[in-house]
Amino acid sequence: MDGRDQRDHRAGHGLDCPDCRLELQEYLDGTLEKKRSLAVFMHLRDCAACRADHDALQAVFSGLDALPALEAPADFDAKVLASVPYGAYQAMASLRRERVPVFLEEQFLPAWLRARATRVAGLAVAAAVAFAFAAGAGAGWLLAPGLAGLGPELLCRLQGAGRRLVGLRRAEG
Ligand SMILES: [Zn+2]
Repeated sequence: MDGRDQRDHRAGHGLDCPDCRLELQEYLDGTLEKKRSLAVFMHLRDCAACRADHDALQAVFSGLDALPALEAPADFDAKVLASVPYGAYQAMASLRRERVPVFLEEQFLPAWLRARATRVAGLAVAAAVAFAFAAGAGAGWLLAPGLAGLGPELLCRLQGAGRRLVGLRRAEG
């Protein structure tokens, strides 16, 4: 900590310069909590650097306050609307409507099923079952959880393939 910083801390009554600068805007707006506002006041009294910041900010604020209020011109709405390429938007309506069938939309499958964790966990179960069978330890009751484990990943992949197929057909016209 150099001498300047130490001075700042002594001068700050608990508030240092970075903190003081953070509070300046609220201080000037008069929205700062009383105790905090007093701390800023004390800091400003003793710290020339922050006082300079304060004065500059205050000058900006009063400059802004002094600006005359501008009325929007009467044709403002019309001009904004005219600048929107609404024609182009309308021309693309058919493209927007050409969506994939709803059952191929990702959102058709519940989020938990699409979740990577579910798919990985399912695959792990399936792999464990496959491993058990490979090791000769497979039992009939293991088949169901093994197949169920494959489910989420299979469903997601099937859906993805379906989407690609639809996209392909569309690209061919
Ligand atoms: Zn300061």
